[in-house]
Amino acid sequence: MRIRDILRRKGDAVATVEPDATVRQLLAVLAEHNIGAAVVSPDGAAIAGIVTERDVVRRMHDRGAALLDQPVSDIMTTEVRTCGPADKVEDLRRTMTEQRFRHVPVLDDGRLAGIVSIGDVVKSAIDELESEREHLVDYIQRAP
Ligand code: AMP
Repeated sequence: MRIRDILRRKGDAVATVEPDATVRQLLAVLAEHNIGAAVVSPDGAAIAGIVTERDVVRRMHDRGAALLDQPVSDIMTTEVRTCGPADKVEDLRRTMTEQRFRHVPVLDDGRLAGIVSIGDVVKSAIDELESEREHLVDYIQRAP
C-alpha cells in the first residue's frame, strides 16, 4: 500500500495556519476540523513548520495562558518530516513509531498534497489485514 492509496480515500485537504496566526487561532482551527495538527504555511502550499496539540500542551505548561496570544511560529517544529505519494505506508509507519510523531505532510513536486496521520496508517494496516484474511478464508473454503 502506498501513501497515494490513503490520499485517494481521505482526500488531499490539509488544514494550514499562517506563521503569525496566534495559538488561540490555531486552537480554533484544530477544534473546527476535529484534528490534532496543522501545517504552518504562509501561502497554503509551502511548508514553514508543523504544530500539533502536543506542542500547545507542552508550551502551555511552560508559559501559561499568555501562550494563547503568541504566534504559532514560536512553538512550531521547523524541521518537518514529509513523505511523497509513492512512498510505502509501511515505511512511514516505521518512521512515525521511531520518531514519535503522528502527522506527516505529503509533498508532491514540492507542493503540499495531503497529510497522513497515525490514525490513517493504523486504518490502512487493519484494512490490509482484513483483506488478507478474507482471501485466506476464501482459499481454504475452496480447497477440495
Ligand atoms: P505529534 O505526535 O504529531 O503530536 O507530534 C509530536 C511532536 O513532533 C511535536 O513537537 C510536533 O511538532 C512534532 N511533529 C509532528 N509531526 C511532525 C513531522 N511530520 N515532522 C517533524 N516534526 C513533527
